[in-house]
Amino acid sequence: MDAGRQRELEAKVLSGDRLSYDDGVALYDSDDLAWLGELAHHVRTVKNGDRTFFNVNRHLNLTNVCAASCAYCSFQRKPGETDAYTMRIEQAVELAKQMEPEGITELHIVNGLHPTLPWRYYPRSLKALKAALPNVALKAFTATEIHWFEEISGLSADEILDELIDAGLESLTGGGAEIFDWEVRQKIVDHKTHWEDWSRIHRLAHSKGLKTPCTMLYGHIEEPRHRVDHVLRLRELQDETGGFVVFIPLRFQHDANGDPRNRLMTQPMATGAEALKTFAVSRLLFDNVPHVKAFWVMHGLTTSQLALSHGADDLDGSVVEYKITHDADHFGTPNTMHRDDLLELIRDAGFTPVERDTRYNVIREFDGPDKGRRDAPQPMPV
Ligand code: SF4
Repeated sequence: MDAGRQRELEAKVLSGDRLSYDDGVALYDSDDLAWLGELAHHVRTVKNGDRTFFNVNRHLNLTNVCAASCAYCSFQRKPGETDAYTMRIEQAVELAKQMEPEGITELHIVNGLHPTLPWRYYPRSLKALKAALPNVALKAFTATEIHWFEEISGLSADEILDELIDAGLESLTGGGAEIFDWEVRQKIVDHKTHWEDWSRIHRLAHSKGLKTPCTMLYGHIEEPRHRVDHVLRLRELQDETGGFVVFIPLRFQHDANGDPRNRLMTQPMATGAEALKTFAVSRLLFDNVPHVKAFWVMHGLTTSQLALSHGADDLDGSVVEYKITHDADHFGTPNTMHRDDLLELIRDAGFTPVERDTRYNVIREFDGPDKGRRDAPQPMPV
């Protein structure tokens, strides 16, 4: 990028002007990661100061049986496979209860598209979980699952969401988005929920007062222009509904274990630098979403800490078990992070930890950055 274009983009960001598709592609084209990070950090600081949000949650995957076979997915199992499982509702409740002493505030529930489980299983599961953990928010189901429930129940998404909200649903999850561009999508996605249905379901959820996250799975066969298109679609929907509370870039994991289900397993993964660039450009383009989250399970701990200086302001989460990614784990990331671990990571990166709930209401502010860290050379006392 020439210096003139760089100055032009910088001026737009600093004056709060909205960036265009061409601007987004130009930003990805820049090799100046320090410049991108600084710009994104400026935007992050204007929006969220030096606060870094986190929540204490528990991921539950009720079933790994799935009718679809997405090319990037190591989690799916077909009925009858030896390690296919579907939890009884009591099992799910028991697992969730095990986290109670941790003070979890959220259950994050996503599942395969089970071909024969009846629709009623899902609202019943939510009801039972809510009864067992009344103070815990249920963030459950991707738009893909809601679309699947339409298919298996014959009900509309409107009726489904009403019933799930009645059973305790507080938010959808942001998955199923992958990359919306059809050129890429048709090669990696096997389920039937594409931009039209994904956006329809989130729009509907927002109209019912739910706040939802949105995601982007990057670093596989897409090009930067597809990431820009993806974020701009979400930005446009956000202009309309204001219902997205956070954007979560998810780095594609190739499969270190060579699982043939993951048909993209030989695809090289994005480097840490590419991940940081994606955080920075996403923060700059998606000007109307309040938060950008670094999901450490998919980025590793160090890259996630660095992402906090490249536009991200949320570090998710206090995960006890995250099967979907750990089935294709590449980093040897821990399977468990507790509140104290997150506090240390955030302070070590130079930020002030803030515990939040599912809607980003502040639960507790903690002491600020680790005083043993500095971000510039300091004179030696003489
Ligand atoms: S990504 Fe979801 S829908 Fe696709 S195969 Fe995996 S579990 Fe099924």
